Amino acid sequence: SEIVDVTTLRSWLIRFAGDVEEHAAELTELDSAIGDADHGSNLARGMKAVVSVLADDSTPPSIGPMLKQSGMALVSTVGGASGPLYGTFFLRMATAAGECDALGPDSLAAAFRAGLEGVVARGKASAGDKTMLDALIPAVDAFEAALGEGKPFGDAIRAAADAAEAGRDATTGLLARKGRASYLGERSVGHQDPGATSTALLFRAAATTMID
Ligand code: ADP
Ligand code: MG
Ligand code: MG
Repeated sequence: SEIVDVTTLRSWLIRFAGDVEEHAAELTELDSAIGDADHGSNLARGMKAVVSVLADDSTPPSIGPMLKQSGMALVSTVGGASGPLYGTFFLRMATAAGECDALGPDSLAAAFRAGLEGVVARGKASAGDKTMLDALIPAVDAFEAALGEGKPFGDAIRAAADAAEAGRDATTGLLARKGRASYLGERSVGHQDPGATSTALLFRAAATTMID
């Protein structure tokens, strides 16, 4: 369908949590090469807290408040850089979505864009700095572009996931300019960024859960 309702968004978050859990060792392995070997455990812990919030009977049955609780769970349970960054992504999505039961494609695009702007405001990184933004920016751009071309929602969200994965792959050749990996300078080149890798999982989970 062209409408993403609160149940579907909840499924997206739960699916992402499961994918992070499944890929936690790989994410941590990537972070051991250019960081401090905790990205998988950080994000798995944070998303486990999100799943607890979503399973709680008192979780608001409305999109903005549900995303807000999820973002707050991430910020409060993850000490590393990725907790506040992913948390901010969902908090800004929450504000953009507001109290509603469903988002049309353009509203979802606006929420993704707001989330992306939040990550930029929080982390002060730019495209090409070898961070999660190098998957997030192409994903949000591709989603908007596909909708702008009149493509069906399913094609647009699949294009976002494909763009996130291409962006993830391209981080290998980049020199890190933000986060712990930047301490390595030239030695960061040749390694795939852990945060871009988890962001690619986020958009693949969106394509998987949001397409009927
Ligand atoms: P930490 O580096 O504190 O241990 P994590 O290992 O959980 O945190 O997350 C590392 C990831 O966070 C990096 O791979 C990168 O994608 C992302 N990251 C780090 N700093 C920034 C930033 N300033 N802006 C955007 N993303 C960032
Ligand atoms: Mg780390
Ligand atoms: Mg750390």
